Amino acid sequence: FGPEYVRAIAPYQAGKPISEVAREFGLDEESIVKLASNENPFGVPESAQRAMARAVAELGRYPDANGYDLKQALAKRYDVPTEWITLGNGSNDILEIAAHAFVEQGQAVVYSQYSFAVYALATQGVGARHIVVPAKNHGHDLDAMADAIDADTRLVFIANPNNPTGTFVTGAEIEAFLAKVPANVVVVLDEAYNEFLSHEDQYESAEWVRKYPNLLVSRTFSKAYGLAGLRVGFALAQPGLTDLMNRIRQPFNVNSLAQAAAIAALNDSEFLEKSAANNAAGYRQFVEAFEQMGLEYVPSHGNFVLVKVGNDLAAGARVNLALLKQGVIVRPVGNYGLPEWLRISIGLPQENAVLITALQKALAEDR
Ligand code: PMP
Repeated sequence: FGPEYVRAIAPYQAGKPISEVAREFGLDEESIVKLASNENPFGVPESAQRAMARAVAELGRYPDANGYDLKQALAKRYDVPTEWITLGNGSNDILEIAAHAFVEQGQAVVYSQYSFAVYALATQGVGARHIVVPAKNHGHDLDAMADAIDADTRLVFIANPNNPTGTFVTGAEIEAFLAKVPANVVVVLDEAYNEFLSHEDQYESAEWVRKYPNLLVSRTFSKAYGLAGLRVGFALAQPGLTDLMNRIRQPFNVNSLAQAAAIAALNDSEFLEKSAANNAAGYRQFVEAFEQMGLEYVPSHGNFVLVKVGNDLAAGARVNLALLKQGVIVRPVGNYGLPEWLRISIGLPQENAVLITALQKALAEDR
């Protein structure tokens, strides 16, 4: 069945759930440490839990199809009109809606080597051609990406910070890129990990949305806000883009609990600060350990680190298995073309310590 371009898609590989690993390796679920999906180790903020408890009584009704209250809160936060906001069932939904809204079969989409897997899926899902630009130091080579845009190109995906490598391009570099992109090419700036950036690295992408009618900034509540399981993300863009996105979007794509929780989380600056501080400390904990172990890693601006665990093409898979046997779930990235590496999410200090010990053991046995 189906078109050839759908049959050609390699499905997304998500992290193994705790229950499956527990059963497969004969482990106690409680003892398992999952550092595989760049989730917030503090879980759901209490403010969001309380908001959801209140919203449960209304679950007999459909969610607000236009997300009025959440859009009001976001419009205030980013100082844009509510018409400039599109809500998504996670930001993956935003990425997919963008591909459907702006690209047709046979046209082209530009993105970087080693960038987020969903860019390839969204591109192939609409039967478009992908132009994958070689990475520079594991990150985006924006000059090469600008050069790669051809007459068929309608969309560019940029992840900043990037997943799975954690690399970052500066605000000045992005602005220079935006100035070069043709007006008929939509740029999706995917800022899923933006809240983990240091103050010095922060830039004002909402300002660029005002300046560039072809720019769409994508954000998520899955990472720093701790709501991955609820699936809520959003896009900021001018009405020329949001109007088309809203025609494609499923009317009830963000459920009522997610809308209520997202508003609470957005206003919970204490939780966000706690998460960012834990992340910065956890990053230092990992980096110190990797340096002591003599492991190469890619300096990260996200809530995860890409670390090289061997020199042969089976190293990542082998060390991943050795970690699973010890009850630690991380993310092999062979599907990204990085088979010697593992991507490890930053957890609580104790979880990070468990990972470090397990990794030392796995590598000692791997010699
Ligand atoms: N963009 C990037 C760069 C990501 O790493 C992720 C999560 N893996 C997403 C988007 C999608 O996250 P969500 O759909 O949970 O918002």
